Amino acid sequence: MTDLALVNANVLTMDPARPRATAVAVAGGRIAAVDEVPAKALRLVDLRGATVLPGFHDAHNHMIGFGMSLGEVDIGSPPVGSLDELYAAIARRAETTAPGEWVIGTGYDQNKLGGHHPDRDALDRAAPGCRVWLRHTSGHMCVVNSVVLADLGIDAAGTEVPGGRVATDSGGRPTGLLEERAQLLVGSLVYPYPLAELTDAIAKAAEQYLKEGVTSCTEAGIGGGWVAHSPAELAAYAAARDQGRLGVRVELMTAGEVLHPLGAHADDNLVAGLDLGIRTGFGDDWLRLGAVKIFADGSLVGRTAAMHDPFAGNGDNRGYLQADAAGLRAAIIAAHRSGWQVATHAIGDRAIDLALDAYAEALELYPRPDPRHRIEHFAVVQPRQVTRAAELGVIAVPQGRFAAELGDGMLAAVGPDRHGWLYRQRSLLEAGMVLPGSSDRPVVAGAPLLGIDGMVNRRTSSGAPFNPDEAVTAEQALRAWTWGSAYASRQEHVKGSIAPGLLADLVVLSEDPTAVSPDRIAGLEVLATITGGQPRYDAGILG
Ligand SMILES: [Zn+2]
Repeated sequence: MTDLALVNANVLTMDPARPRATAVAVAGGRIAAVDEVPAKALRLVDLRGATVLPGFHDAHNHMIGFGMSLGEVDIGSPPVGSLDELYAAIARRAETTAPGEWVIGTGYDQNKLGGHHPDRDALDRAAPGCRVWLRHTSGHMCVVNSVVLADLGIDAAGTEVPGGRVATDSGGRPTGLLEERAQLLVGSLVYPYPLAELTDAIAKAAEQYLKEGVTSCTEAGIGGGWVAHSPAELAAYAAARDQGRLGVRVELMTAGEVLHPLGAHADDNLVAGLDLGIRTGFGDDWLRLGAVKIFADGSLVGRTAAMHDPFAGNGDNRGYLQADAAGLRAAIIAAHRSGWQVATHAIGDRAIDLALDAYAEALELYPRPDPRHRIEHFAVVQPRQVTRAAELGVIAVPQGRFAAELGDGMLAAVGPDRHGWLYRQRSLLEAGMVLPGSSDRPVVAGAPLLGIDGMVNRRTSSGAPFNPDEAVTAEQALRAWTWGSAYASRQEHVKGSIAPGLLADLVVLSEDPTAVSPDRIAGLEVLATITGGQPRYDAGILG
């Protein structure tokens, strides 16, 4: 007896042994059979030709950040088309905010606002007496108003922050812009958030994810550094699960900042870990610990990424590393040595070299089979770096949707000579690397179909082609968002394809993305999402 059978379906299994099928049966939360219509099923659903895929898996997102952003002022473009419109949006929120309270906005991109970041004085006028905090769409910088600068005691010139920058005007007065690790200063005023608030954010995010066909996601950094909302963030996920509000399977990356010596026996090689020695792989099918996240550099559109050559039209600015090179290398090697999968955020080609060098050295000093170290974003990549990453077995984690939302700013940041190095996909596959699918939500819209559209169509919002030689087929993009992401999480034996014994995580789409014209992919409809054999979202097709 099976729990659920989907018949008369167009099943894309991502299983090379049987790529296509017409039926899937589910029992006890797992795939029971493919193609064989069960004799008895508690629930038999005729999908009338709709397409079934393994549930989408976002290999890099910020689930709490996204959930929190739903309650903040949306200062992305759209809806905000100019700095004046941004100030007006802040003023509207300030009207219902008590003096001294926070007005928080998320998602501005100076590239879409005339090239200038919001200004502290204009924010003071828009929200008199309030504390204003506006996060850049990249997450790598923010702008605060004068009240916050005064709170922080950094309203005088000359505040130095290692791995970050307090921007000043030509007269040396802070403008309110805080880059990279300088954001930790604001964090000291607002964090930690109460766990109940974080749990609500997770639940809100999960509801949205399920509507978009996401059944698994990887949270790219919790517990420490400027990406964290609380040192106890994992407990918020556990609470969401206990309350039945998690809905999607979550893999949590630990922020590198929270790894510490454990005092274990010298023979154990546990030089950097979490208490009790838990590390990558700990947990279960719903909530598990993934890689350790180490930030090597910053943002491309924000021009803080560490580049070998200067950004285009930006003087001698080559960006910067988030810590000194030796410290970053040591952190990566220590994490590898201690058994962690390592995920290094590296955007610029200089940061990518640092990550590749560190992985090579780590593997030589402490050989370990199949470590699957990752480089998050892998944005500006020289041809030789593709070869080297492939040789080292590195998994690159680029974001397809960036082309559509951030592409114009990225093309401008690197200039035409380096357009062919931007956000590679096809050359990674050709080099034999595994390509996962991810959004980096809330940096850009996170719906997988939008990410898949970006991977295939590679157009910016102005309509410019975005390094189109690196486009992949719809088939390859779907494989990335399912099997590829499962592989990046070391979970391809558990999920990411549709085969007997694997987790019954499925998404039902209105049409087959590989059969429609590429410009229609983004508009396809998610009809149902099933996690662990349970329908978690149903637009009506499951009845
Ligand atoms: Zn991220």
